[in-house]
Amino acid sequence: MSPRKTVGILGGGQLGRMLTHPAALLGIPLLILDSGSYTPAKQTLLAPEPHSHPDGPFTSESHIRELAAKCDVLTVEIEHVNADVLEQVEKEGLCEVQPAPKTIRLIQDKYAQKKYLADNGIPVAPFAELGVNPSEQDVQAVALKLGLPMMLKAKTLAYDGRGNSPLQSTDSAAIKASLDFLGDRPLYAEGWAPFVKEVAVMVVRNKEGEVRSYDAVETIHRESILRVCLAPLRGHRGVNQRARELAEKAVSHLEGAGIFGVEMFLMEDGSLLLNEIAPRPHNSGHHTIEACLTSQFENHLRAILSLPLGSTSLRVPSAAMINILGSSSSMDPVHHMADSALSVPGAAVHLYGKAESRKARKMGHITLTAESDAELNERLREILAAQPDADK
Ligand code: ATP
Ligand code: MG
Ligand code: MG
Repeated sequence: MSPRKTVGILGGGQLGRMLTHPAALLGIPLLILDSGSYTPAKQTLLAPEPHSHPDGPFTSESHIRELAAKCDVLTVEIEHVNADVLEQVEKEGLCEVQPAPKTIRLIQDKYAQKKYLADNGIPVAPFAELGVNPSEQDVQAVALKLGLPMMLKAKTLAYDGRGNSPLQSTDSAAIKASLDFLGDRPLYAEGWAPFVKEVAVMVVRNKEGEVRSYDAVETIHRESILRVCLAPLRGHRGVNQRARELAEKAVSHLEGAGIFGVEMFLMEDGSLLLNEIAPRPHNSGHHTIEACLTSQFENHLRAILSLPLGSTSLRVPSAAMINILGSSSSMDPVHHMADSALSVPGAAVHLYGKAESRKARKMGHITLTAESDAELNERLREILAAQPDADK
């Protein structure tokens, strides 16, 4: 047998951490590029000898090149990396990159991504470009076209809703507050999608073009941040299958191997609109570690290394994922919630090893598995009761 290929991951946060577990099981050597020597991912897996995990920004050309020189395949756990350098590294034959740098670049710009998907016949909410530092009149003109409320969004460097600002009125004060919040980043606007549910599907594709989707899940957000995820999506006839088909279709327009997280809105009439795609493991697939035959993390590694893909089937009738968010700088509420879950049957606790807690920072999650939705709901109530009061 040939030696296992070494995989380099750009980003050393919780998604990288959860990639290290199947890497260890499958004997895949991993090198993680991020700033700091004790990031969530670096804590859990030693670098293969004679290397150490590179310490530097995943946007830095020299660090990416240093990583590429030691690896066979580079991949990402975050899309906000340096796509230009990844493209050069691949063109120069220094290292393979999965998914394709072109795909990472497209997804980095949420406006470009939305336009590309719409141009390829994928249904999305109406949207319009605003650019950098738009005037009040620019915003009013777009509001006239898209209606109110609308969502102002940063095109780039957005995550956990931190690049989003809902606009309820076109008063000067409201527009100014939104624009000030979003700062100097390039912006675009989206018409409000009055969804009945948010839905997500994880899709894995290997280099040979084999595609497998997981069951759709319901994702429950508050203030633009994912709180709870319920698997499988229930209650709307055929929607699970339709969401999987739409997600697979959307991913078919993107190049490269790996796992993709596809976020969608389920509308009142049963139709689906695509919100955005992540070219990497995704928060709405964390339950797959305990609840599916093969986790999103393991399937990502299998896909980029041309190993056989694993089954995406659920191994239990009902599952949930509850994010543990920081409520302040204190770790106490985080540990309280994690420890309370330890006495709930079917609960699995994941803490990410982040040194500091901050309000709304993802500090860990809990996966719940159950034999029925009724059993799941009962256990879910117990877990949510341990949330800090402000989050209830
Ligand atoms: P992520 O952490 O998933 O990358 P993000 O910062 O890129 O998030 P979005 O996915 O664009 O942000 O939006 C976050 C949430 O805000 C959505 O899950 C949804 O709840 C809400 N939202 C976004 N766009 C719209 C819209 N057009 N209409 C209504 N709600 C929206
Ligand atoms: Mg996003
Ligand atoms: Mg999102």
